[in-house]
Amino acid sequence: QLSLGQVTEYIRWNDQGLVPAVIQDADSRAVLMLAYMNQESLKKSLTTGETWFWSRSRNELWHKGATSGNVQSIVSVKYDCDGDTLLFLVKPKGPACHTGETTCFYREIHGVHTGEAESKPSIYTSHRFDVLAELESVIAERERDRPEGAYTTYLFDKGVDKILKKIGEEASETIIAAKNKDNEELKLEVSDLIYHLLVLLQERKLPLDQVLKELSLRHERPRRD
Ligand code: AMP
Ligand code: ZN
Ligand code: ZN
Ligand code: ZN
Repeated sequence: QLSLGQVTEYIRWNDQGLVPAVIQDADSRAVLMLAYMNQESLKKSLTTGETWFWSRSRNELWHKGATSGNVQSIVSVKYDCDGDTLLFLVKPKGPACHTGETTCFYREIHGVHTGEAESKPSIYTSHRFDVLAELESVIAERERDRPEGAYTTYLFDKGVDKILKKIGEEASETIIAAKNKDNEELKLEVSDLIYHLLVLLQERKLPLDQVLKELSLRHERPRRD
């Protein structure tokens, strides 16, 4: 983990004194563009919170969005294993590409040989994880509308102690299913547990997104505990 003062020494500038910077949308995760930075533009980026590059065609410092208005507000900056590439996560004011396309990578080479993995659904293409977000919003709806006969309504009516008691029960049932090496049962109990945890988050007004963010931070910097 580098601090601001150490960056320019650590970065492996190429023989033109430049480093490529990959610009990625912090929300959609789309790769927006690739451009080069010299020391001055990197320093400007890190101190102003917006992306600055070195234009190799115009030979000048380039504040992205200066003329188009499509500035890129910096969310985080990463550098790769050998320090010769930067990755910026940004929130763009508008399209990154001068053509008006959201991303410069709007064209594709067709007819390439795709790998075997291409035909298998990934967690990203199957959107299986969307079910957590959907469940979270259904639970929020139940808390607001309290439809009669719904189990979630019952939980919110009973209050937080009931929710906590259920989490304890479902955790115990999860343990028992695991001890019994019964994966059918384990699947059901873990589902119960996750559902009740989401009800608790809603009761406490803690967005699931904050939990996911915490998990991804741990993933970036592994911890032992
Ligand atoms: P902008 O920085 O968006 O105000 O655009 C100013 C000029 O920078 C444009 O006229 C282009 O020449 C150039 N430019 C803007 N965006 C890109 C890009 N993504 N890749 C390469 N050149 C760009
Ligand atoms: Zn590298
Ligand atoms: Zn472009
Ligand atoms: Zn259960």
